Amino acid sequence: MTVKTRFAPSPTGYLHIGGARTALYSWLYARKKGGVFALRVEDTDRERSTEDSVEAILEGMEWLGLEYDEGPVFQTQRFDRYAEVIQQLMDSGDAYHCYCSREELDEMREKQRANKQKPRYDGRCRTRTEVPDDVQPVIRFKNPVEGDVVIKDLVKGDIVINNRELDDLIIARSDGTPTYNLTVVVDDIDMGMTHVIRGDDHINNTPRQINIMRALGAEVPAFAHVPMILGDDGKRLSKRHGAVGVMQYRDEGYLPEAVLNYLIRLGWSHGDQEVFSREEMLELFELENIHSAASAFNTEKLNWMNQQYLKSLPGDVIAGHLQWHLENQALDISNGPAINDVIDAQRDRAKGLVDLVATSRYFYEDFDSYDEKAMNKQFKSGVDDILQALHNKLDALTSWNPENIQAAINSTCEELDLKLGKVGPPLRLAVAGTPMSPGLDITLNLVGKEHTLQRITKAIETIKAKM
Ligand code: GLU
Repeated sequence: MTVKTRFAPSPTGYLHIGGARTALYSWLYARKKGGVFALRVEDTDRERSTEDSVEAILEGMEWLGLEYDEGPVFQTQRFDRYAEVIQQLMDSGDAYHCYCSREELDEMREKQRANKQKPRYDGRCRTRTEVPDDVQPVIRFKNPVEGDVVIKDLVKGDIVINNRELDDLIIARSDGTPTYNLTVVVDDIDMGMTHVIRGDDHINNTPRQINIMRALGAEVPAFAHVPMILGDDGKRLSKRHGAVGVMQYRDEGYLPEAVLNYLIRLGWSHGDQEVFSREEMLELFELENIHSAASAFNTEKLNWMNQQYLKSLPGDVIAGHLQWHLENQALDISNGPAINDVIDAQRDRAKGLVDLVATSRYFYEDFDSYDEKAMNKQFKSGVDDILQALHNKLDALTSWNPENIQAAINSTCEELDLKLGKVGPPLRLAVAGTPMSPGLDITLNLVGKEHTLQRITKAIETIKAKM
């Protein structure tokens, strides 16, 4: 059996974190089993579905690297097929026209409530003989009235629902359009899904879908209902928690590798391990190990994960992800050090990609102002002489590299009989404009000799002008 899974978003908004996690689990499972991962866009709600949101979902999946083998299949292009299946169910006696008016249905429910019964459609049109000719009927599925439906859920275990709990679901509206549960069933059958992995907010639909599948003589896939994600306040994750689309995580400087790793752990575990390479994810992921209880989103942990990946990913991979941020922050790196060298210098201390770019500007651009607090502290009378001594030593270097730079700084300290703590901070401020930078040897090396010397001269002038 070839495993086949799908991600079936409704394009009514961004690809949010919960959807991305469901997509990840489906993708991982298919990849792990050497199977097929399909994308299906459930766009039958024409009022709420938008082209922008289809784009946003595709963009989010691409950013996360969740490549699909089949699709995107758009449900709105399959109405003929749904009509065919609805007709098939009518022909086999598994579906029937329902002429009940809204008033009739309301009255039915009122009576049921008064009798302390669960409101449900009582199936009266199954046997209706007098058909009003001024009503466009809906079509209902004839749900079995006896027996149980068992969901063999790989996450939650067997779930048994008595058919008496279910009623005859509308599968076609009076205008003939199919309803959600019908389209999902037809697609899952036609696309040959072996495993349906989705949010547990769909669990109430599953027994109904299984019954329709059975009526159509189709094989029922395995199900894995993934619990929802909560915010850190225990409430269902929503925009309030800052959980908008996955692309917002890109904008905020997260690496997709870190987001993926964070997401796999959010609701699945393998012992205490936190960081998983792609190979490890594929080797260790099992649907059975998805947690059956909801998990809470934790931004601090995501930040931690991001830093782990920032430290460990190959420089070229980080450089690739950095492109968007360089453009977004309008930092032109065409003149200056190789970006991979800057990444290596910064990756251990940067909070994320936004921060990495923001704190790397001085490698590529001269600046007009200094960090004010540091300037008040460092640029004092007498410091201009220290900077001049450094300038002389550095200027004399014939080969510009971290070792020689460090040696020049050290010998300046010796000659002036000053500790590095007196010499380093003003030099750093002069060359970087801020009191935070990688080691001076690395910083100066990356800034380059010409710009280093120019900036030291400028700092000396600034100090003199201040005095
Ligand atoms: N379109 C549904 C949603 O976005 C998913 C349906 C399914 O996975 O079966 O919630």
